[in-house]
Amino acid sequence: MGEKKRRLTLSKQFIRDNPICCYCGAPSETVDEMPPRAMFLGRQWPEGMQFPACIKCNKGRGAIDAIVSLHVKGGEVRDEYLDTEGFKKLWRDIHKRYPDATPKLAESREEQQKVWESAGFPAASRLVLPNLASMISSKKTVDLLQVFLLRLLQAIYYREQSAILPLNHLACVSFRTNATFMKAGSFDDLASTMVQGLPMSRPTKRGNTDLTEQFHYRWGRMPDESVFCYCAKFGTAFVAFAFSAPEEFFYRHSLKPTIKMDGTFIQA
Ligand SMILES: [Zn+2]
Repeated sequence: MGEKKRRLTLSKQFIRDNPICCYCGAPSETVDEMPPRAMFLGRQWPEGMQFPACIKCNKGRGAIDAIVSLHVKGGEVRDEYLDTEGFKKLWRDIHKRYPDATPKLAESREEQQKVWESAGFPAASRLVLPNLASMISSKKTVDLLQVFLLRLLQAIYYREQSAILPLNHLACVSFRTNATFMKAGSFDDLASTMVQGLPMSRPTKRGNTDLTEQFHYRWGRMPDESVFCYCAKFGTAFVAFAFSAPEEFFYRHSLKPTIKMDGTFIQA
């Protein structure tokens, strides 16, 4: 059997075993990879991170996947995980296909300094950070990242709870790039500490290859309150947090949800 045919058979089998779209509850028709394969070095992505999706939920993911991968590759500071060529290719791709979602790149030293200063890091702006791509993200970029973090929440819920996240729940999603932590010079330590804060963990791997250094999440759950949350670390680029709960939970704790399960934003 050819590779293509073998994969098609595996996909069909997967959809048969997972008949419901893990995002919206419609019949599943496609296999979705979360996080996107393109963010991993050599496109070696973790096992067990495939999810059933309907065509509607899978459609329009191109821009999101590209933006996430761009941020992961662009924020990587460790030489062994650097993929400058991959980053440039992704950026050109996004620029061509999704011009309004393209983060502006700080190309000159002066421009890079301005980015750091506007982020509140005048000290960091004087450092030489040759490996770091300083990106100036548009609102559109941030919106796409937030939708991605919601999709990841739904996917992790499906994986860990063997059910779809209730569609009437609301969610809070947020992320911090390494620019936020660079002042302390310890993004990795701080991010790892945060990720350790949740009780449940899963190794991220493919076969014997440990992929934890590129992506790792932990999760937790308050069963009586139906609250579900994760904290995920994307290499040295960013950390993300997300949690979902029934609407009344937010009111009771004076918390503001940011996004609905269908990906629409809740205005403050
Ligand atoms: Zn769907």
